[in-house]
Parts: sequence; C-alpha cells; structure tokens
Amino acid sequence: MNANDTLVEQCVGRLRKLSFAIGAYRPPSEGGAASLLLRVSENCPWNRCSFCEMYKGERFVYRSVAEIITDIDTVAAIRDELASLSRALALDGLVGRSLGAALIKAGPDLAENQSFVTVFSWLAAGGKTAFLQDANSVIMRPAELVVALQHLRATLASLNRVTSYARAKTLAQRQPDQLRQIRAAGLDRLHIGLETGDDELLTLIDKGVTAAEQIEGACKAIAAGFEVSEYWMPDLGGRERWRAHAQNTARVLSAINPHYIRSRPLAPRRGTPLFDEVAQGRLHLSSPHQRLEELALMIDGLEVTSRVCFDHAMNAWVDRHGALLLRQDYEGYQFPQEKPLLLERINEGLAVAETGHVQARRLMAVKSL
Ligand code: SF4
Repeated sequence: MNANDTLVEQCVGRLRKLSFAIGAYRPPSEGGAASLLLRVSENCPWNRCSFCEMYKGERFVYRSVAEIITDIDTVAAIRDELASLSRALALDGLVGRSLGAALIKAGPDLAENQSFVTVFSWLAAGGKTAFLQDANSVIMRPAELVVALQHLRATLASLNRVTSYARAKTLAQRQPDQLRQIRAAGLDRLHIGLETGDDELLTLIDKGVTAAEQIEGACKAIAAGFEVSEYWMPDLGGRERWRAHAQNTARVLSAINPHYIRSRPLAPRRGTPLFDEVAQGRLHLSSPHQRLEELALMIDGLEVTSRVCFDHAMNAWVDRHGALLLRQDYEGYQFPQEKPLLLERINEGLAVAETGHVQARRLMAVKSL
C-alpha cells in the first residue's frame, strides 16, 4: 500500500462517521442530485390532504436550530474532507470522477452512504443549490429559520440558490416583516401546493386552507421577494367538479401571478382517502380528452405573466405524430406570449384518439388498481 492509498483509506474511515438528516422528497425542478438536501423539519405538520401519501403514518418532528446547525457543519466537514483528499492526490481540490473512483475502491460501502453520496454529487455539480426539507419549512419559528439560513449561507458559501416547500396557510399567518427577514437570510424560492383554487374542493380534499388564504400566503411571499412556484392538480375534482376546479384555479392563480405554475395531474395513490373514493365509485376520473378540456378551460382563464410548466410524466398527452404534446422542461411556456401556442397544442391533443394518448394507458392502470 502506498502513501496515497493510506490517505484514501483514512479519509474513507472519517467519511463513514459523518452523517446528517436527509428526507425523501424534493421537487424535480430542484436539480436532482445537483441539489444539497437538508432536513430542517421532518414530515408534514398538516398531513391530512386526501390525495397525498408522502408522509402518511409519519409523525411531524420540529428540529431544533442546534440539530440543523450540526447537520450543516457535517456537510461542511464532508466537503472539507473531499477537498483536502483531492488536493493530496494532486486533483486540484476538484470533486469528480477520479476522486470518487479512488474513494469507492477503498470503501465500496460509501456508494450506499446517503450523506456521502448527497454531498459528493452536490459538489461535483458545483455546489450551487440547496433544498430545505420536508413539507413546510416555514413552519419553523421565523427567528430560528433565519438563524439556520444565516449559518447555511455563511458555512456553504458556494450556494447561489436555496429553496423549499411551504404551505400557503403558514405563509398567510406570517407577518410581512418575518417573511422579508427569512428572504434576506437566504431562502430564495418557495414551492407551494395550491392543488385547486376551488373552495368546495379544497374542503373535500382537506387541504386546510381556503382560496383566499392561498392568495394571501402566496402574495405575501412574492411581496417579500420570494420566487414562487405553484402546483395545481388537473382532474382533482374528477368529472363531478372539473369545471369549477378549472375556473377557480385560473382565478386564484391569476390573482397570485406566481413565477411558475406547474401541472401535476391526479394519480390516486393506494392508502389515501382519495384512492378509496375512486375505488368506491364516488369520484370519477376524467379521460385524457376530458383532462385536456379541463386544461383548456384553466389555461384560457389564466391572466398571468408566469411560466406555465408540465414537468411531470403524468402530463403525457401526445400529438398527431406521437410526440409529447406539451413541453416537459422546467421552464415551460412563458405567459402571456405563449398562451395561444399552448391552447393550440391542447386542441392538437384533442384531435388524437383517446386511446392514442400515453396518458390513457396510465389512467387505465390507475383505474384497474
Ligand atoms: S400539505 Fe403537502 S405534504 Fe402535507 S399532506 Fe398536504 S400535500 Fe401532503
């Protein structure tokens, strides 16, 4: 064994002892493995939405600032270990393929070590973005969130964007000053689950928020300087409420005018109340054409300057050539300029037979569960 092998082995030994909390979920648009995941709280403090299986059966945990700071320091310790080994191996301090190969050769178990893999992938991608988990980071007491963010930004100075999930209800309860302080401390973008702007449907799905609170929370966040990404769920009201769902969602999103509007078509998940409603015939899912009609109504009602996105596999309608009907990239369609184009594409989708849509097969699979 030469001197370098010994250095690598020693480094592997130290890395094995370094771990921090990482949750399961983040939005696809937040960089995949390029984003550092940090858990500032665990699970969902609400946990009642009838369509959501993400944290069912999991108890909400409010993490202390001390625990979060320890985790941030652990990330920094892993980063420093990697940089120092890279320099010792004459790799210029770079974290990349050669360094990874040397470490995995000496410690194959590191490939399964979530803390190591997360920090390594994040640094290999430039160490630019972080996502704070889990479902509602702004539930933290504002002063504590500010301290955690300040420590994050001071310790991991390569970060140029920090984002998180937030509930509109919690944002509506915060004072404008508190939101401004959180923004100034370094939280840049909030991902909010609107789902629908229809009050009746919000009650039925037990979202715990009204349309007026959705508007208030998101508008406060935008006024405080956050970038806001809103998620809505086509077909959430099924055939029973599709029209009110589309119209009121357009109304609420127009009042908010968020930076991003992202479509997440309903896919009932086993173990949720909504799944049982579908299985028992109390909620009837729309066909691919009916979903497109609902989409057309919602899009037509949108008076926004947002980017309207379809960055999820369930937005899988096709055109007459069998190609994806709607772009699925993270930046989507710029409104209002591309609104006519989007409506045109929806019409194109309506010209394709129902059975031709990839979505038809996915819906059939859902219905046969
Ligand atoms: S607030 Fe979000 S994470 Fe929590 S139950 Fe509702 S959809 Fe799920």
